[in-house]
Amino acid sequence: MILNQVFDAINIGIVILDREMKVKKWNRWMEINSGIDADRILDSSIYDFFPDLGTPKFTRSCKSVFSFGNFCFFSQKLHKHLFKFKSSGYLDADFEFMQQNCAMGPLRDEKNEIQYLFIYVQDVTEVAVYEQKLIEMNMKDGLTGIYNRRYMESKLKEEFNRNKRYGGKFSLIMFDIDHFKAVNDNYGHQCGDFILKSVCSRVNSIIRNVDIFARYGGEEFCCMLPETPLDGAVLVAERFRAAIEKQDNKYDDLNVKVTISLGVSHIKEDVSSPEMLLKKADDALYKAKNEGRNRVEISE
Ligand code: GH3
Ligand code: MG
Ligand code: MG
Repeated sequence: MILNQVFDAINIGIVILDREMKVKKWNRWMEINSGIDADRILDSSIYDFFPDLGTPKFTRSCKSVFSFGNFCFFSQKLHKHLFKFKSSGYLDADFEFMQQNCAMGPLRDEKNEIQYLFIYVQDVTEVAVYEQKLIEMNMKDGLTGIYNRRYMESKLKEEFNRNKRYGGKFSLIMFDIDHFKAVNDNYGHQCGDFILKSVCSRVNSIIRNVDIFARYGGEEFCCMLPETPLDGAVLVAERFRAAIEKQDNKYDDLNVKVTISLGVSHIKEDVSSPEMLLKKADDALYKAKNEGRNRVEISE
């Protein structure tokens, strides 16, 4: 059929099914992406080849196409994909399977009766990858890969309000690398960057996954600890301090050791805003610096 040439040339998948869910059309795009030749799948039930398709949503949608002539849309945002195809391009590293926007609708004969349904499958992996990267760039720090200040501040506001309404414990650690300017001055800015990454990855290995660890400024960091009382947070801060003091940071032939100073605060009655909680941790950090560095101080 002449139209088949168009079906096989276009850059989307086309599938046509009859009322028994047997495959009547399987275009070239579907062959390439599924690895299943049309000869093999034609006249077989689609479920024999794709048992995962048999979800309530899919079967309901097919019924509504055949019964009422409806059109249905399967968006990538909700469903990720309809057909499980391995994602291929270098860009798709974040997704194991091809991300798809799909739609289905009725095909009527000359008497206007619905004989078949068609499905089209559109590969939207590239857009989904960029979208995911944009979301990530918006909340992560480019150098260290941990959360950035903007994300931390919005999360802090959220957690603070939740805590004020429902109660519970909530603590905050702020810390700053000691004499970091000297690291840059003595070994260069690149070495400084390396130390920042190294400190972050060590702290990341200590915290729980509900904790939120963020870069607050240049070499100043903040860690939010939900459901953690003050004494627990002080223990965590002490663990950070000891781990960084012990850590070897091998850069070229050097082993650049650093220490950190930490301040801890927690939500109690007189802490009326997220800014105040931050200020209290910062004051405690300032005290730790004044008391000789490489130590943990607690906010009054
Ligand atoms: P203190 O013990 O009082 O904290 O001393 P310090 O030298 O760490 O404090 P100071 O605030 O004077 O210096 C911080 C330095 O951090 C200065 C700045 O150049 C450096 N810095 C900030 N951001 C970055 C970064 O992204 N990379 C590098 N390599 N250095 C940074
Ligand atoms: Mg410093
Ligand atoms: Mg500083």
